[in-house]
Amino acid sequence: MSVTVVGSLNEDVLVRVGRLPGRGETAIGRDTVLAPGGKGANQAAAAGRLGTGVVMVGRVGADPAGERQLAALAEAGVDVAHVRQIAGSPTGSATIPVEEGSGENLIVVVPGANAQLRPADVDVDPVRDAGVVLLQLEIPLATVTAAAAAAGGTVVLTPAPARPLPPELLARVDVLVPNEHELVTLAGAAPADRSPAELAGLARALEADTVVVTLGARGALLVPGVGPTLLQAPPPVRAVDTTGAGDCFCGALGVALADGAVPSEAVAVAVTAAALSTTGAGARAALPDAAAVARLRR
Ligand code: ATP
Repeated sequence: MSVTVVGSLNEDVLVRVGRLPGRGETAIGRDTVLAPGGKGANQAAAAGRLGTGVVMVGRVGADPAGERQLAALAEAGVDVAHVRQIAGSPTGSATIPVEEGSGENLIVVVPGANAQLRPADVDVDPVRDAGVVLLQLEIPLATVTAAAAAAGGTVVLTPAPARPLPPELLARVDVLVPNEHELVTLAGAAPADRSPAELAGLARALEADTVVVTLGARGALLVPGVGPTLLQAPPPVRAVDTTGAGDCFCGALGVALADGAVPSEAVAVAVTAAALSTTGAGARAALPDAAAVARLRR
């Protein structure tokens, strides 16, 4: 069964600086690296590396950055026929100065063409017919809600960037995949160190059938609508960069669910794929294929 991703495509503009500039300050950067990004496209690339029949629905500009995003996704095995190039809107971008040494960064996102993906644009066959539809919140909320309503299969939502969600959207979500911060925001709770049991309590209070809370190096917590929770630890890996690990997790989860895996099995696959994705620099440098995931799970 197939996976369709409805979401953002961005060009990440990474600039290395000796020290992050303060307000009104100028910093001289060392170099600029362009990298394909956007939560939607990152999830699609991860799914494309792992499975077949992965389709992306989105918008980029009619500019060289848009061409680069299309090429990067196609190279990952993703069908980009439903990613339209829009004249007059630039490809979305994220400009990210990264401080050498500390690794701290600042991020300025310009949605650009992503903001032009309208509710009517997502009522299309790949959304209606996919076994799994993957959604995030870097496109207009009305479009996310429309995609969930149009989806005929399982709807998986990454609620990032964190914000309150309309009840009609949550009601249509089958699997919600927040990280700890997003879960706490959605639950309206105060930030605090919480045990898995406490996190499961917050997750159960949300109106989604199944919640999977990603917990960084601790793995992920599966909180099904009924039945016991499961904490899935990652396999041992040498993590060098966790950027985009959450997106790889969701892409892998989507492929496994579309292939018919039960939720606990799908979470085990996703935890393994996401762990492997942390072993290279950048969001897409170390996306694993199915053979690499299978080797680590043996
Ligand atoms: P990002 O925003 O960087 O994509 P996130 O905050 O959305 O990440 P995390 O919970 O940090 O999501 O990570 C997602 C998943 O990636 C985790 O559930 C885990 O499976 C895997 N992961 C993250 N960090 C590590 C790590 N250091 N070692 C192994 N696996 C990791």
